[in-house]
Amino acid sequence: MTEIVLIGGGHAHLFVLEAFARAPLPGARLTLITREAFAPYSGMLPGRVSGQYAIDGGEIDLKRLAARAGARFVHASATTIDRGLRQVVVEGHAPVPYDLLSLDIGIVPDVAAIAGAAEHALIVKPISTFRRKLDGLLAGLGDGRTRDLVVVGGGPAGFELAHALRLRADGVPAQAKGGVRVTLAAGRELLGGVPARGRRLARRSLDDAGIALVEGARAVRIDPDAVILEDGRSLGAQAAIVTTRAAAPDMLGRSGLAVDERGFLKVRPTLQAEDDDSLFAAGDCVTLLGQHRPKAGVFAVREGPVLAENLRRAAEGRALRRYRAQSQYLMLLADSRGKAIALRNGLAIRSRLAFWLKDRIDRGFVDRFDDGS
Ligand SMILES: Cc1cc2nc3c(=O)[nH]c(=O)nc-3n(C[C@H](O)[C@H](O)[C@H](O)COP(=O)(O)OP(=O)(O)OC[C@H]3O[C@@H](n4cnc5c(N)ncnc54)[C@H](O)[C@@H]3O)c2cc1C
Repeated sequence: MTEIVLIGGGHAHLFVLEAFARAPLPGARLTLITREAFAPYSGMLPGRVSGQYAIDGGEIDLKRLAARAGARFVHASATTIDRGLRQVVVEGHAPVPYDLLSLDIGIVPDVAAIAGAAEHALIVKPISTFRRKLDGLLAGLGDGRTRDLVVVGGGPAGFELAHALRLRADGVPAQAKGGVRVTLAAGRELLGGVPARGRRLARRSLDDAGIALVEGARAVRIDPDAVILEDGRSLGAQAAIVTTRAAAPDMLGRSGLAVDERGFLKVRPTLQAEDDDSLFAAGDCVTLLGQHRPKAGVFAVREGPVLAENLRRAAEGRALRRYRAQSQYLMLLADSRGKAIALRNGLAIRSRLAFWLKDRIDRGFVDRFDDGS
């Protein structure tokens, strides 16, 4: 019996489970080890903050998907990979032996990069905890005091979250006597790396929504009531939400795997670890050797089918497929005015149609893996 073990219910592993549900592999046993029972779909996270989607919408039931795939479901955190003994050490559970192992464990927020963030910032995932804290903060509105919400980080997640918070706050009654100010502290520049027209559209969209944009300086400290920037500016903040750089999960380095200088697992185009043919990985936790790409759910999604196929081929002793990350992809950034900015190949438009398209793509993705049966 070949033991195939998946750690993490990230986007790529959804495809692996789906592929095994469609075509079981005789002589192999699949196990999913996951800290969360439900996998949030990244594209719908801001919509779950804003209330566009139900709080439990946009999630995939991993236990149900694992059952469809005939996989054993271990609801726990993996702590270390013992490659000598070929087993995964799991918190509160017996070690899980493997012949082939696959990691899709995402990132951890890099709260260490900003002083005070670990103590004072709100973290977006898990989303249910985040929403509870946010709703608690908004509950007292109407007492005459203004709440300042500051989103730190000017990437796509920061942009969408600022809009989502705006929409959420606008939906709370009794705002007139106080209200909520949303500020996006975008670091040196909003959406760095995006073409100038895209950045212009993004600024206009923030302006339309009444979201204050602060650029030109990174946040260096978070106090209980303020975000402090590197040029000394202080932004009042009853809540600061950090969406800046991603850090690698500790487990990779702790397990003695071949990682890059930031701690992410180095993988070859076959999605195998640089130095281990039995270890596969995909999604934000990897660095693809020779193919530098940003950390985004879209890559985890594209890697998924290749990973599924390669695990099957490896179990059967066949030659593996090579994954080539696309250099151009469609990025859709939703705002709180019912529009989205679509970016691709240097082109940028902002329209209601783009918002509709994003909603359709996102719902389609979740429905694919969470068929409710
Ligand atoms: C607010 C926000 C909005 C975003 N919007 C977009 C967007 O529109 N488009 C886009 O492409 N990207 C977006 N992103 C980025 C996107 O969320 C990530 O790129 C994507 O989720 C990465 O997928 P993944 O498969 O690598 O892992 P993840 O989706 O992060 O999943 C990893 C899973 O592994 C589990 N896990 C981790 N460690 C362990 C362990 N030791 N043992 C067991 N389980 C473990 C975690 O609990 C988690 O469930 C957004 C991010 C944020 C925060």
